[in-house]
Amino acid sequence: MTTYRGRFAPSPTGPLHFGSLVSALASWLDARAHRGTWLVRIEDIDGPRTVPGAAEDIVETLARFGMVADEPPAWQSRRMSLYQQEFERLRSTGLVYPCGCTRKEIADSLVHAHARHTTLAYPGTCRNGLNGKPARAWRLRVPDGDAAIVTFDDRWQGPQTQNLATEVGDFVLRRADDQWAYQLAVVVDDVDQRITHVVRGADLLDSTARQIYLQQCMGVPTPSYLHVPVVTNADGEKLSKQTGALALDASRPLVALNDAALHLGLTLSGTAALSREAFYAEAIGAWSERMKR
Ligand code: GLU
Repeated sequence: MTTYRGRFAPSPTGPLHFGSLVSALASWLDARAHRGTWLVRIEDIDGPRTVPGAAEDIVETLARFGMVADEPPAWQSRRMSLYQQEFERLRSTGLVYPCGCTRKEIADSLVHAHARHTTLAYPGTCRNGLNGKPARAWRLRVPDGDAAIVTFDDRWQGPQTQNLATEVGDFVLRRADDQWAYQLAVVVDDVDQRITHVVRGADLLDSTARQIYLQQCMGVPTPSYLHVPVVTNADGEKLSKQTGALALDASRPLVALNDAALHLGLTLSGTAALSREAFYAEAIGAWSERMKR
């Protein structure tokens, strides 16, 4: 049997909020229910969005809530040479090409595509050359026809299908601002950290087919995926710093933990509100039961 390795991979754009607590708790409970290893990875390569000190704050808050990683946290910003190396390897497959399109050019061509009732995917403008434009980003070519259909069975959301050609198009691995794209970094890291089970918020469900395709291009195994429902505010928007999510009250961890378990559909007794130990003992059992269904 493979040894279970799971992870929580926050982007340090602000303090831990209720939505990210739910994802952290789900990945922790799944790892503990499997008697596996739980890792934390700080996804801090999106320079403009990273807030100094937020990563340390998140790790500290997780510890107050009783979630301490089994290995020292990995920092994406310290792994740039790894992304470069894997990018070069992908380039040698001939599937990666430079793209000179600006956002506006892509948006304009999509408006036309939309008018023709075709797709909203990147139309592949630069597939056969830059036409004299300077290279901005680097894209990975997706297959044409039925070969572009990726299917997987999400442990929470059930069977999923995405046609990469019509729904996504050739996607970016290296961005126009010279940063590694999330899709590349996350796949390289999940392989490097030998992650067997990805548990995260359903806002990332739509990225999963791209990640599975990247794994296939790299010739590496695909982990199992589980996407928990995202927490929304009263207007139905995902809780995030942008939508005004408040930081958690770390002085009352049991209240937030019990709320997060409730959001995950776990029914716990009053005992779970008495201590962290009691909470985790019950929550791990309830998670295992729920996953059997
Ligand atoms: N860093 C991503 C986020 O905070 C999560 C990435 C992942 O779990 O794959 O939304």
